Amino acid sequence: MGDKLALAIDLGGTQLRAALIDRSGNVQKRSALATDVKGGPHAVVAQMLQLADQLGLTNVATVGVSSPGPLDSDTGITLDLPTLPGWQNFPLRQTLKEKLNLPVTLENDGISAAYGEWKFGAGRGLSHMVFVTVSTGIGGGVVVDHKLMRGARGMGGHVGHMMIARDGPLCTCGGKGCFEALAAGPAFGKAGLAHGYENASAIVDAARKGEVVALVLVKQEAEWLGYGFASLLHLYSPQRLVMGGGVSKALDLMLPIIKQTMLPITMPSFRSADIVAAQLGDNAGLIGAAGLAFA
Ligand SMILES: [Zn+2]
Repeated sequence: MGDKLALAIDLGGTQLRAALIDRSGNVQKRSALATDVKGGPHAVVAQMLQLADQLGLTNVATVGVSSPGPLDSDTGITLDLPTLPGWQNFPLRQTLKEKLNLPVTLENDGISAAYGEWKFGAGRGLSHMVFVTVSTGIGGGVVVDHKLMRGARGMGGHVGHMMIARDGPLCTCGGKGCFEALAAGPAFGKAGLAHGYENASAIVDAARKGEVVALVLVKQEAEWLGYGFASLLHLYSPQRLVMGGGVSKALDLMLPIIKQTMLPITMPSFRSADIVAAQLGDNAGLIGAAGLAFA
């Protein structure tokens, strides 16, 4: 029989990725498609089956799916995913289970990636860790007391929707002033448009060349991250905060400012937590989904 593998599927608003992954978190083979967002859940399930077929299921023992939330991981039903219209109350786990004839787990993408980083990445060996991914949105997951925090229906750890500014900008969730609305990639990129920077990564490139306006924009972004991170340290008392997502590629530039911002608003006893970059890149969700499927 050899070592059995997990089929991991990472459903994103742009990309649908799948991989065969072993118990040690090694990616053996991967494949991806552009998510058929307009086609809705039935079209995307067909894409998932296509990817499964491409990768081959001969050695696969279990299937782990990572999806944007909110979703109910107890029942395996997607609730109301802001990035994927038409997925309200879709029984994703049951549908895949019937089509693939294998056990299937469904978890929120932030929780999946947090699990991946905890078991196989930047959080290895820790008992208390907060993972925050800052890209198109802000997601995350929390490990407390050596356990992945899941919350009722597996919806815990939606750190992006922590409100940090009254009357702040509108968020994808319908709320205002969420951490995500202020500090995710699109907010960072938007701040640069008025200064001729086309997006967040253009700002970062210019900042690396020492352009003053870009450095100011990076400072503003790092300050918003500092506000959010300070609250997360107080809430969960992690040993380490692991930052992933596209914006974390600029963590080396931002970390001094993040720390400076946090200093006056973080109680002294919480300041020992370190802040580090994630290690698994865009494989974190896949590796975590596989790990959770095996667990
Ligand atoms: Zn929100």
